[in-house]
Amino acid sequence: MPEPFITTVVGSMPKPPWLYHQKPLDSKGFDHHYTGSDWALTGDPLRDAQDDAVRLSVYDQETAGVRIISDGEQRRKSYLTHITSQLDGFDYENRAEKWIRDGRRLAQVGRCTGPVVWLGPMLVDDLRFLLTNTTSPVKVTLPGPMTVVDSTYDDYYGSEQELAMAVADAINKEAKALDALGPAVIQFDEPVFSRYPEKVADWGIEALDRCADGLRAQTAVHVCYSYTIPGVERPIKPSYPQILAELEKSTIDQLALEFQAPQLDPALLELCPSKTVIFGCIDNANSEIEDSQAIAQRLLAAAEHHDPEKLQAAPDCGLVLLSQATARAKLSALFRGTQIARDRLADPRGRAHGPHHD
Ligand code: ZN
Repeated sequence: MPEPFITTVVGSMPKPPWLYHQKPLDSKGFDHHYTGSDWALTGDPLRDAQDDAVRLSVYDQETAGVRIISDGEQRRKSYLTHITSQLDGFDYENRAEKWIRDGRRLAQVGRCTGPVVWLGPMLVDDLRFLLTNTTSPVKVTLPGPMTVVDSTYDDYYGSEQELAMAVADAINKEAKALDALGPAVIQFDEPVFSRYPEKVADWGIEALDRCADGLRAQTAVHVCYSYTIPGVERPIKPSYPQILAELEKSTIDQLALEFQAPQLDPALLELCPSKTVIFGCIDNANSEIEDSQAIAQRLLAAAEHHDPEKLQAAPDCGLVLLSQATARAKLSALFRGTQIARDRLADPRGRAHGPHHD
């Protein structure tokens, strides 16, 4: 059986300043296309620098105690457009203006102008590089269909559901190509599930299951309230009860969920008893370092409502917007928190930590 509270990440890690000039989060919220942010290098030097940034990200995660690691998405400007811009059917030259995220943000988005088609491997070389630079189990992430639908403008299908299924088929082809290399986990990022619980029930789960069809790796889905928008309280919508009940019916093995920033009640986990839950206990937007004892308490509270062997510990979301030093410190606090929680679970009265008199 797996041990309780295995540590992992959701996906992205901060990029070093010598690799990427990151535009800070402004009052208008996160710029979906990273306008103003750009690579610090071009051509072969950029490729070499990205390789080095992945090596550093692996080192940072392993040193902090993360057990299932990612490449930190060091080669992607955006977790989403890095993939969609490489699929046939999307036009990023002539963008459209669209209110996305349930009308919360006006964005310049790519347009779907024809059938969405997978043109060949997009992340396979990146995953191969990661696997040759670590002996840890690795996770690789892909955007989920509903989030792609919300983040693009449909000029072709005329139906969100039809576009989603076409995206799901293309994502599944990429996932199968990645699966052949043997990653431990393939994760689909569906932050917008939290905004559209009724669509999750209508077609979101069906599209998600299509992405995961036929994979040997453990499959995961990440649902969160997306990057923090200053002045917007979390949770943005109290949708987790409905979403978790729907996700319980899906074929996905693992659910990566945000619990820390909105301080959601761990009793919600009773809605998805069959799933491994990647429990968010690190705030990805606040630079204050969490206390390990408090992390342990949250994990133990979660364990009162879910099989501890099906609980993993992780940040709420990708850590891309933090500084490298803050991300390292938070992951280290996470690992210490899981150690404390594991010890207490084994010996609730805490004798393991006290002097032995017998
Ligand atoms: Zn997220």
